Amino acid sequence: MLVAVLSDIHSNLRALDAVLGSIGTVDAVWQLGDVVGYGPEPVGVVERLRQIGAIGVKGNHDDAVCGGESLEGFNPDARIAAEWTRAHVDAATLAYLETLPELLTPDGTDFTLVHGSPRERIWEYLDSTFAALENLAAFGSRYCLIGHTHVPTVFRERRGRVEEVAVAPESGLRLDERRAFLNPGSVGQPRDGDPTASYLILDTSASRATWQRVAYDIDATQKAMLAAGLPPRLARRLRHGR
Ligand code: ZN
Repeated sequence: MLVAVLSDIHSNLRALDAVLGSIGTVDAVWQLGDVVGYGPEPVGVVERLRQIGAIGVKGNHDDAVCGGESLEGFNPDARIAAEWTRAHVDAATLAYLETLPELLTPDGTDFTLVHGSPRERIWEYLDSTFAALENLAAFGSRYCLIGHTHVPTVFRERRGRVEEVAVAPESGLRLDERRAFLNPGSVGQPRDGDPTASYLILDTSASRATWQRVAYDIDATQKAMLAAGLPPRLARRLRHGR
């Protein structure tokens, strides 16, 4: 089975469409939360995910837009964007976000999907070998797919410890018997210094994960954000991938 794994799309429809245009034919699209927040096209992004039959989980930004307590922890720009999103989505979009589960194990697979971490599904940043080690007991499958940090990463079990494995665009990782956390990076707001959209392709028959990048029209997204009245800082950072 070929699966495209997308995370942190953040209402960036141009980035999402660039990714969908580059992945070719896949058997499934899995998304790891933060469908909305920051960007200018929440309704269009949810509509697209519906069209392609994507399945996935809820992120802290999705939770905040649905009125969840995640909003309390937001910085001022993130809060403004969440409130803007809430004011600009229709009931169907809101219902879609509300019904996203916090954790998902697709039938017949060895993958668990969460936004943050398996033990603190929406909020924890799984960004260290220490956090990864502590989270190994919190999920039952062999592999766990995570987002939230917006940085492509792998943490893999090794003799009772956890090591970080470097990932680079086009580079593949063989999925062996070792348990691992895989982060595809962010489609709509990358933060690893590369502004192109980041995603992951899983080939379950070949036991391979491959990270990919694709360029999209950043200017057009920035213009749409400014025209919508979203915070200029959120638009500017797209250019730098930070
Ligand atoms: Zn995010």
